[in-house]
Amino acid sequence: MAQSAPLVARIVALSVSATRKAGKIIRDVMRQGGLNIVEKGENDLQTEADRSAQRCIISSLNSQFPNITIIGEEGSSNCDVPSDWIVSDLDEEILNLEFPSHLSDIDPKNLCVWVDPLDGILKFSQFKFFNYCFFKLQQFSLGTSEYTQGLVEHVTVLVGVAVGDRAIGGVIHQPYYQSESGLLGRTLWGIDGVGYGGFNPVHPPEGKRIITTTRSHSNKTVQIAIDAMKPDEIIRVGGAGHKVILLLEGKAHAYVFASSGCKRWDTCAPEAVLYAIGGSLTDLYGERYSYTSHTEYANKKGVLATGPGQHHQWYLSHIPDEVKQKLH
Ligand code: AMP
Ligand code: MG
Ligand code: MG
Repeated sequence: MAQSAPLVARIVALSVSATRKAGKIIRDVMRQGGLNIVEKGENDLQTEADRSAQRCIISSLNSQFPNITIIGEEGSSNCDVPSDWIVSDLDEEILNLEFPSHLSDIDPKNLCVWVDPLDGILKFSQFKFFNYCFFKLQQFSLGTSEYTQGLVEHVTVLVGVAVGDRAIGGVIHQPYYQSESGLLGRTLWGIDGVGYGGFNPVHPPEGKRIITTTRSHSNKTVQIAIDAMKPDEIIRVGGAGHKVILLLEGKAHAYVFASSGCKRWDTCAPEAVLYAIGGSLTDLYGERYSYTSHTEYANKKGVLATGPGQHHQWYLSHIPDEVKQKLH
């Protein structure tokens, strides 16, 4: 089955396993950091988590798909990796999906994979504070789970698969998601026109407007765009991946970010998963971004994402001209 499934299916199926492994690597690096945070200094910890997770994902993809282009946030990582970081399991559910003919026989030259090994991480100063508190709570045997949840749930590992210029397949792994069974981590995936898994789409509440946006990259223009939507509630959380999860699960109606700060690796996977369930992600002019390998990285014209059933056009029509003029 594995060899006969379309290339896109096999890449997404492997990415599900690779992001899960990357999530474990991130948790291991973070845990070690928690023990001697004071000695670590200068962004070391965060860098190690980012790079290790990316090396795991890219090495795993390269070993099975040597002819595809992979662009990772942390640059090229062709160093050796421990052999147990190279993952080869393919998710069976994805391999067994029915693919439409236009996605069944893709030339590897038309594919580009965008990797954000760690999206939505706290700034290092916040991370240091978090670890200090975590350590103190442990010392005094206080409960830590609620405390850790709110802070690290924003972190996701993102792998997006583009065919031509379109985001088609996406995997969003949340390493610190705590399921009811107590297991850490979950993986959401979607392939536009094919299927999705790892979550149940939920519509947001009717009769109110909840907007999610950046927690740490706000500025005057970002705020003007949000105010123009007259939101009933604003949810400020880290990470493009996490904000799109809020849309998938009906916790927000729209993700509005009037800034050129997001990059293609932030939006490729979330965009594909959103389209797989009937949502939308565009720039603030209503155009979709291109994800070919030679495109620029910055999402210069901002990001507007909405879940299924939401009036994307309504949000676009409420973006003030002064905001658009700043983003072109
Ligand atoms: P945020 O919503 O602020 O967590 O941002 C989503 C993603 O875009 C994260 O990967 C951020 O690092 C990135 N990002 C957003 N704004 C900026 C910026 N001004 N500079 C650098 N990266 C940014
Ligand atoms: Mg990111
Ligand atoms: Mg990142």
